[in-house]
Amino acid sequence: MRNRLVLQGITQTFEDGGVKRTILDKLDLKVAEGELVAVMGPSGSGKSTFLSIAGALLEPTEGEVLLDGASIMGKNKQDISDVRLQQLGFIFQSANLIPYLKVEEQLMVVAKLAGTDKNKAEKRIDELLDTVGLSHRRKAYAEKLSGGERQRVAIARALMNDPAVLLADEPTASLDAERGLDIVSMIARLVKEQGKSAVMVTHDERILPLCDRVLFLENGKLVHH
Ligand code: ADP
Ligand code: MG
Repeated sequence: MRNRLVLQGITQTFEDGGVKRTILDKLDLKVAEGELVAVMGPSGSGKSTFLSIAGALLEPTEGEVLLDGASIMGKNKQDISDVRLQQLGFIFQSANLIPYLKVEEQLMVVAKLAGTDKNKAEKRIDELLDTVGLSHRRKAYAEKLSGGERQRVAIARALMNDPAVLLADEPTASLDAERGLDIVSMIARLVKEQGKSAVMVTHDERILPLCDRVLFLENGKLVHH
């Protein structure tokens, strides 16, 4: 099975009052097509730093990130933002929807940014709203949605441009236990069905059985327990 996300020898250091701190230390990770990997670790262990590097939001001090086999290092700002738009889908702790837009418009914004043809975008929106079970809510404004519905819109939005890789930062943190399980079941199912690679940072032990692997960020590396 091909690896859609590969991190090789990722090191991240930060200067702190003249002292160099190594947060990530030659970290390696390969995530295969159809695989959902959970990443756990105490606060301050470097999870957000790791996710920022995997998501092309932060260029590491050393090392390489490959998406679908191609390195994303050394690209200019415009190319990096294209990579984020076309090849990566982000899901955050809170859905970060735009309050004055309807559900379908939240998704259309992404298609517009990517310059997708309108008819094609509308078809994709139909498909995705069906997939996340929100076809009946397509004309609803974000503020009228429940927490679980909002997160489902956020998942649909992350999938809009058919990215190779999904990155989720505590996607269940704002949901009750049952909704949290629903959301992660949905992410797991979509990752399998659509052959994506996904990495989810989480503190939520209840959702771990839905993940293919659970890794811990310790001493700057990702390890099994
Ligand atoms: P986590 O998400 O696991 O809580 P972070 O990746 O946010 O951890 O942070 C790991 C460590 O790196 C923390 O000690 C944090 O203060 C430090 N850090 C993160 N970003 C920066 C930065 N831009 N400059 C300096 N230190 C940083
Ligand atoms: Mg964090």
